[in-house]
Amino acid sequence: MLDQSRIDALRDAPVAAGAHIIDGESRPASDGATMEVISPLDGAVLTTVPKGTATDAEAAIASARAAFDDGRWSGLAPAARKKVLLKWADLIEAEALELAVLGVRDNGTEIGMALKAEPLTAVANIRYYAEAIDKLYGEIAPTAPDALGLVHREPAGVVGAIVPWNFPLMIGTWKLGPALAAGCSVVLKPAETASLTLLRIAELALDAGLPPGVLNVVTGEGHVVGAAIAESMDIDVLVFTGSGPTGRRLLEASAKSNMKRVYLELGGKSPNVVFADAPDLAEAAKVSAAGIFRNSGQVCVAGSRLLVERSIHDEFVDLLAEAARKMKVGDPLDPTTNAGAVNSQRQLDQNLAFVDEARAQGREIRIGGSRILEETGGYYMAPTIVTGVAPTDRLAQQEIFGPVLAVIPFDTEEEALRIANGTDYGLAAAVWTANLSRAHRMIRKIKAGVVHVNTYGGADLTVPLGGVKQSGNGHDKSLHAFDKYLDLKTAWIKL
Ligand code: NAD
Repeated sequence: MLDQSRIDALRDAPVAAGAHIIDGESRPASDGATMEVISPLDGAVLTTVPKGTATDAEAAIASARAAFDDGRWSGLAPAARKKVLLKWADLIEAEALELAVLGVRDNGTEIGMALKAEPLTAVANIRYYAEAIDKLYGEIAPTAPDALGLVHREPAGVVGAIVPWNFPLMIGTWKLGPALAAGCSVVLKPAETASLTLLRIAELALDAGLPPGVLNVVTGEGHVVGAAIAESMDIDVLVFTGSGPTGRRLLEASAKSNMKRVYLELGGKSPNVVFADAPDLAEAAKVSAAGIFRNSGQVCVAGSRLLVERSIHDEFVDLLAEAARKMKVGDPLDPTTNAGAVNSQRQLDQNLAFVDEARAQGREIRIGGSRILEETGGYYMAPTIVTGVAPTDRLAQQEIFGPVLAVIPFDTEEEALRIANGTDYGLAAAVWTANLSRAHRMIRKIKAGVVHVNTYGGADLTVPLGGVKQSGNGHDKSLHAFDKYLDLKTAWIKL
């Protein structure tokens, strides 16, 4: 599918100005304001999207509320919803390459990863939840024989979904798939720097027969559109992927409004722990490099802290540097590229500031550390490995969300565990060891939503994803995702 001539034909195609999707219509912002969409590939203006207002968000919420309450979608048989959602998935699949290239031009992810992780994952997500929804049963509780206790699952209502820019279609449909299959209506707020593909799939949803008002998309700034969604009295469930500070604001907004349920996926500072008895150090180095540098580190589960046993530290860092140097960084529309562009000038500046701080602290920048390909006008950064990092350094404590790896040596399993658990985050982790007992001890003791063993980043839609500690709560993916969008209601019948 990665046909370079087709990609090249799409690479410079003009992109029409985006519009909100509200109540089944394409609409501009209420005051006509727009925001420029800057492509991270070359820093040029790709198109514009509406700079949404609180009025726009309120219109979308009112539309979603009306759609939910009149049952045009929530009241359909699950099999009828499934039919529409499967059609939607087919339409997205038919446009997969166009969507992938549009997404890359908008957010910078390398096309090889983008095609699989974005439109094709969206298709898989929508199909999975569509296929599941007419196979979920209610329950009869094991009460005494003089009563009948019924447990129904009901759509939870109007969902606000606020999503980030790194994988808008994948993360967006982790939420839209189960929410829409469950019968909820949705108001979706894409990130400022990655709206275009989500707007397009919302149009395709209408083409597939999703009734107007069931899926609304409002573009614009987080503190305006996102805040209006978070503060609304008419949003029942708020689902979010993004930064910790924004997650905190959403919890506050919930507490100050209608106490809507809030589910957060807030990224991590995931420890990748390599013991001296790892089965294959060269393989571990290669996979670890991919685990932090693919998509230029803009992956919530990225293995951004490498904890390596001191006896193999130098050898392993050499292997890692070699693997990183072999990765091709640059034009994300070249299918041989392993790491594309950083999403925005702001994100690039932030990445470089972290590295400058480490340099000033006397840490060694083993490779990388700087912007590259500046002549393109795009935002590219060399894979960066920083050694001699102290576990308490900001570089080892805060999510950078860029191609920057902090390397920390350790001497014992206990020390590795202490360092691994020594941040506010708890999203992902990995352990490399040939010792089965040690692997199981680490799985039990590392505080993270997922612990990989002798690999990094393996995942599947059938496996739930969610964090602990300040990485968030609740789960995307798998049937567990339905828990957010289906409320339990019980009935007690005296017999
Ligand atoms: P962010 O949290 O600011 O943005 C994520 C989403 O929240 C966007 O749609 C944004 O418009 C919205 N938002 C922002 N402020 C809001 C507010 N006050 N109320 C409601 N919604 C609001 O994240 P960012 O600025 O795009 O990136 C900053 C950092 O977040 C990154 O450096 C990275 O550490 C982290 N991040 C994590 C993930 C992840 O997958 N967990 C994804 C993207 C970014």
